[in-house]
Amino acid sequence: MSTHFEQMTSAGIVLLLAMAAFLVVIILSYLFIRRDFRQRERTEADLAEKTAYLNALIENAPMAFVVLDSERRVRLCNPAFVNLFQFHAAEVTGAPIDALIKSSEIAGETDDISERITSGETLQLIRRLRRKDGTEIDVEIHAVSLRIAGKVVGTLGICQDITERKRNQVELLDTNERLALLLSETERRAHEAAQLSELGELLLSCQTAEEAYDIVAKVMMRLFPGQSGALCVINSSRNLVEAVAVWGSTLTTDRAFTPEDCWALRRGRVHVMGDNSTSPRCAHMQSAVSSFTVCIPMVAQGETVGVLHLEDESVLPGQERSAKGPPLADHVRLATTIAEQVSLSLANLRLREALRNQSIRDPLTGLFNRRFLDDSLQRELRRASRKNRPLSILMLDIDHFKRFNDTFGHEAGDILLRHLGSFLQSYIRADDLAFRYGGEEFVIILPEASLDSARQRAEQLVKDFKRLDVQYRGTTLGPLTVSVGLAAFPDHGTTGENILRAADQALYRAKEAGRDRVVI
Ligand code: GH3
Ligand code: MG
Ligand code: MG
Repeated sequence: MSTHFEQMTSAGIVLLLAMAAFLVVIILSYLFIRRDFRQRERTEADLAEKTAYLNALIENAPMAFVVLDSERRVRLCNPAFVNLFQFHAAEVTGAPIDALIKSSEIAGETDDISERITSGETLQLIRRLRRKDGTEIDVEIHAVSLRIAGKVVGTLGICQDITERKRNQVELLDTNERLALLLSETERRAHEAAQLSELGELLLSCQTAEEAYDIVAKVMMRLFPGQSGALCVINSSRNLVEAVAVWGSTLTTDRAFTPEDCWALRRGRVHVMGDNSTSPRCAHMQSAVSSFTVCIPMVAQGETVGVLHLEDESVLPGQERSAKGPPLADHVRLATTIAEQVSLSLANLRLREALRNQSIRDPLTGLFNRRFLDDSLQRELRRASRKNRPLSILMLDIDHFKRFNDTFGHEAGDILLRHLGSFLQSYIRADDLAFRYGGEEFVIILPEASLDSARQRAEQLVKDFKRLDVQYRGTTLGPLTVSVGLAAFPDHGTTGENILRAADQALYRAKEAGRDRVVI
């Protein structure tokens, strides 16, 4: 009996143990499942949070996002994309991108960019695109392909409006270009100002007009490189314009012409030909070779002294002037300033020359006066003694001139004296000098002439003077004769005073000996 009970007790224990083990398994399973469930719950929450962030990122991004499928239809886009191209959100999704956005026709970028974007390659490009309202914007586009499980399913495009940035860049470039232009313009003007001031200084120091001509040519070549030109002055009779200085290699203007041949001189104002202007061509231009020419009248103290002429041979007929050179207006302005400076200086030089002439010349005969004789004689004697060469002096006095005046009148006497002045001027050689010494007395210095050759020339003069045909009020004046006293250096003295005295004494003896002769 006890054994049977024992057997029953041990079976119950086994059962209990089995039930306990089952319970433990169930509890453990429950715990495992609960942990797993909580984990999954956490993961899902994480995922939802991440998705929310991602969505917020795309929704709020200032850049325009667009996702295209393999058919190039819009699958997704953000408000920035919609705003950028001015669409309504509803019309975008599902629409083919090529129908929505077009390239600018103005910019000429008509290549198919959507094809390139969806080609699978990673791209970065800038295009001018048209918005819905037709306005154009510059857009920087980044494109990457979207892959799922290694397979390309579409493309992500990120667009940014860079219109403002591009405009700023262009403006910056423009500003730089303008600054560079301004700088070169300033440099050019500074160079011109320096040249003009130098020209002014040089012209002021000129003693003769010829010196001034030379300087003008040099300065013009420097200020107008590649151009030819001429400085032309009007002669004293005002019937001929002559080029006194020329520069450049291809001058086509005549070197001498009448004032009527030049429109600038005719109208008294700057005349521009060529450069698409309809101005007539001046007659002093030989041909239509040089297409661009400027003539500037030179006026000083109310008197036209000549014309400054410029030619630009680098321009072919019908062409604009070179963009490299200064603008036409500047070109003419500079040349006009120079013309003003030069005309003033030429007028001053002429005035100075006239004053000097007045101080050294006798107004009736045009010969040098007695005051100038002293200086000239001393200078010529110094030169003769330095060179060890002879020098002769003739002293002339018209015979019975008082009687002549009494017969024909004082006015006729003056006319005869004037004639004698030009006669002597044409009679002497280039190095000889003729002076009116007194009323009807004259002195001629013959540098390097020996006593013998001077005597021969004086005798010829006495002969030729007798043949002088001077008309006065329809009658021939004369005949008149002249007496000549001749003295020479070093034979009759070594100072001017001595030689003049010797010539005077010789003249006195010529008169005493019966006049109309030469006495040494
Ligand atoms: P001789 O042969 O001795 O020289 O006789 P002459 O009459 O020429 O005498 P002299 O030389 O002494 O006289 C000069 C005369 O010349 C006096 C004056 O009537 C005249 N005479 C001087 N200057 C001028 C002038 O500018 N014009 C005119 N018409 N006559 C002048
Ligand atoms: Mg006399
Ligand atoms: Mg006399």
